[in-house]
Amino acid sequence: GWIIEDMHSMSRERSMTRYVFITGGVVSSLGKGIAAAALGNLLQARGYTVRLKKLDPYLNVDPGTMNPTQHGEVFVTEDGAETDLDLGHYERFTGRSASRADNITTGRIYRNIIEKERRGDFLGATVQVIPHVTNEIKEFVLEGDGETDFTLCEIGGTVGDIEAMPFLEAIRQLKNELPRHGCVFVHLTLMPWIAAAGELKTKPTQHSVRDLQSLGIHPDVLLVRSDREIPEAERRKLSQFCNVRSSAVIQALDVADIHEVPLAYHAEGLDTEVLAAFGIDFAPQPVLGRWTDFVGKLTATRGDVTIAIVGKYTSSKDAYKSLTEALRHGGAANGVGVILKWVDAEDIERDGCSTHLAAADAVLVPGGFGKRGSEGKILAISHARRTGIPFLGICFGMQMAVVEAARNLVGLDGASSTEFGECSDPIVGLITEWTRDGETERRGQDADLGGTMRLGSYPAVLAEGSLAARTYGTRTISERHRHRYEVNMRYRDSLSASGMEFSGMSPDGRLPEVVEIPDHPWFLAVQFHPELKSRPLEPHPLFAGFIKAAADRHAINGIES
Ligand code: GLN
Repeated sequence: GWIIEDMHSMSRERSMTRYVFITGGVVSSLGKGIAAAALGNLLQARGYTVRLKKLDPYLNVDPGTMNPTQHGEVFVTEDGAETDLDLGHYERFTGRSASRADNITTGRIYRNIIEKERRGDFLGATVQVIPHVTNEIKEFVLEGDGETDFTLCEIGGTVGDIEAMPFLEAIRQLKNELPRHGCVFVHLTLMPWIAAAGELKTKPTQHSVRDLQSLGIHPDVLLVRSDREIPEAERRKLSQFCNVRSSAVIQALDVADIHEVPLAYHAEGLDTEVLAAFGIDFAPQPVLGRWTDFVGKLTATRGDVTIAIVGKYTSSKDAYKSLTEALRHGGAANGVGVILKWVDAEDIERDGCSTHLAAADAVLVPGGFGKRGSEGKILAISHARRTGIPFLGICFGMQMAVVEAARNLVGLDGASSTEFGECSDPIVGLITEWTRDGETERRGQDADLGGTMRLGSYPAVLAEGSLAARTYGTRTISERHRHRYEVNMRYRDSLSASGMEFSGMSPDGRLPEVVEIPDHPWFLAVQFHPELKSRPLEPHPLFAGFIKAAADRHAINGIES
């Protein structure tokens, strides 16, 4: 009898998802996304299944149309959603692919509600923030309930923001609607150091927790960012004034590298306290060996390579978050450190390549939009092609690589992309039709800008023996896309005759996915975004290969032993 009963209770345990809500207080940019990702990493390391979701209070339907210099990169999921860059952190820290259902914004919530209202779904009711908006938020949170042991929901913005109110109200309601011990609130705050007083101050955290409590949310765990050790007395003070048990006041000190965050927060007891707040006192210890090894590899390097990234959004590093992470994964895979040299394409237009690319062991032209800076990118590609410097082109970077080859190898002076306007040789042109899973997708010339690109994961077939196939170690791949224009197949033969091969194609043979120059040490350009799939524990083969080529080149250059 008891065995069966025990199995019953186990399977019941399995099907119950526990929710962790992560809010932020005092100021923004405290690293809520990393904290959520780190907690996910730790719970997973203890053998639990986890899923992370991001709730963004802004009014855009998705970040797809937002300027990456302001908002950071747009992270594209397998299923083709344009999402917040924090989903990239979630994927990299947990190894689990996010989906469209893992990110929502106020804009999308209102759009859903208004569509329902127009359809007449509300049966004459007055549509209101409570319950309609809050219900929509709760539905988003609960989607997939029972599939994971833990679902972590990060609420964007800072407590006190007008836009965040419905989200806080929704999670407050959920606390009572979920089973007892079904949800835990983690609040991330800051203790500022006041130099004149020589003290770390608790007051901002007190105020922020008071705000949260006035909304009916009582934090179980306080995660407190600080640039120095928080003295025991201050911790007790926070515990008393904020009504949080003292063991659950977790100091979150600055670390040298974001990858140290899971290890540091574990050492401070974050995951233990979260589990304790759920009433789980005897959880398995986390297995952190592989993660610790990766962190070790980031610092124990044989030397450094310098990668020049020629782009446009170079003032905001967050605009290229996945890319810079993928390059570091590639570095760790090769035991070398990666120094990034950000080069503004317009500086190259003005000064030429030699000054800006002299120190580069490799050149990378990342994704991009629009004409500004494109000629500088083409000059950089030309320089890499002629001098044998390893080159990786991504999306726009591939399009410009093909334009460069068409102009300078084939001799088509009018070669360009129709993204910049009409031209005599449209090497890159607008795609209005393609296939996905056997179905045709169509876009008009004047479609909306939001959500209308070729988005998400598509398969590609690599040519036998090509650099691409050798680098991947396979001939069939699947990668994430985000673009509106495509390289024009009509130029394939003349490019091939001049030395550039289309070495990766969509399975129907219609869309070029990879190009390369066989007569060059390492020249590869891809229409997709490989950086989106690179992870610390699974470095992407293209980045591992690119960094290896840079390291080989480095030895030739002999800049450093
Ligand atoms: N602007 C180009 C296109 O839309 C490239 C996009 C990108 O690099 N992500 O096709």
